[in-house]
Amino acid sequence: MKVGVLGAGQLGRMLALAGYPLGLRFEFLDHAADACAGQLAPLTVGEFDAAHVDALAARCDVITFDWENVPVGALRGAARSHAVHPPLAALEIGQDRLTEKDRFAQLGIPTPGYRKVDSMLELEAAVAELGYPAVLKTRRLGYDGKGQRVVRSPLELGGAYASLSSPDGVPLILEQFVPFEREVSIIAVRGKDGEVRCWPLTENVHRDGILHTSIAPSAAPVLQALAERHVRALLESFEYVGVLALELFVVEGRLLANEFAPRVHNSGHWTIEGAVTSQFENHLRAICGLPLGDTAVRGHAAMLNFIGKVPPRAAVLAVAGAELHDYGKAPRAGRKVGHVTVVDADRHQVLARLATLERLLG
Ligand code: AMP
Repeated sequence: MKVGVLGAGQLGRMLALAGYPLGLRFEFLDHAADACAGQLAPLTVGEFDAAHVDALAARCDVITFDWENVPVGALRGAARSHAVHPPLAALEIGQDRLTEKDRFAQLGIPTPGYRKVDSMLELEAAVAELGYPAVLKTRRLGYDGKGQRVVRSPLELGGAYASLSSPDGVPLILEQFVPFEREVSIIAVRGKDGEVRCWPLTENVHRDGILHTSIAPSAAPVLQALAERHVRALLESFEYVGVLALELFVVEGRLLANEFAPRVHNSGHWTIEGAVTSQFENHLRAICGLPLGDTAVRGHAAMLNFIGKVPPRAAVLAVAGAELHDYGKAPRAGRKVGHVTVVDADRHQVLARLATLERLLG
């Protein structure tokens, strides 16, 4: 069976690494000739347009993506005649922070207060309702904290609006700023038969808007049950097939949904070594119509992202149990180039090794 993947970054690369033992083959489409999954499988270099997507679909048994901003219009033709998973509706709704939050609201999943903002007048009205501080975000194409500004007083309102909008008008959203205690995510998979399996909640720490560390399992059973209820509702609303990640804030013992990603997710990388079946393998099992694997943990796990460059390999591997993932990408500031995971039965051991690995980053 051959899987066609739109986007050939590290997520696609890890999908291929998980899929080869299952006997799957892969082919990628990306606009960058040096996209790192291209080191593992044939890569077509081209735009994500209907012609390229249709050609890839004709050569593959199933189409999936490692990037959630692929233009949905380019996929519609392929989706009529070929298996495309996850569903385009999840992609489309997740690409716009407003429709995404509306979907959470329809399903009774609590979110921070939010208002659509298409003009300075709407921004003033929105902040009058939601109060300060608040976060102004572009509705589309924001990632890793890009395309957003915190506004703490009326003095900052005009500057934030000017920095994110454009003369042609960029759709924005204003959200209440959440004084969260922790950020967590739940990753879940849904099979073609509707079976849903969840991994334990993961606690995530971001630096400069980019994921820095993930630690799992993270939460009390009551939060786990609540998060599972929310993610299940979301998956079922889309008749979803594949892996989905739901990012949440923990505040005063409550969960508020921030966003979802209709794909495998950075905060689930620890599942490669830390769970019986990884998010990558279960995504492939789901989209290929295979039985889902066990999402139980093998112990406590911590994952540390390498941003910009991978520290010296020998230093990483000298840490007991360190599992190094070098994505084969050229070093560049702010770029995710690799990660390391440690797993152990003893949570204190895991945290001590994580601290040692963090010191290697300098
Ligand atoms: P996002 O691109 O929406 O995932 O935002 C990136 C990061 O900004 C999140 O992981 C949070 O750390 C922070 N953030 C986003 N939205 C809010 C919010 N409404 N309140 C507080 N912090 C936020």
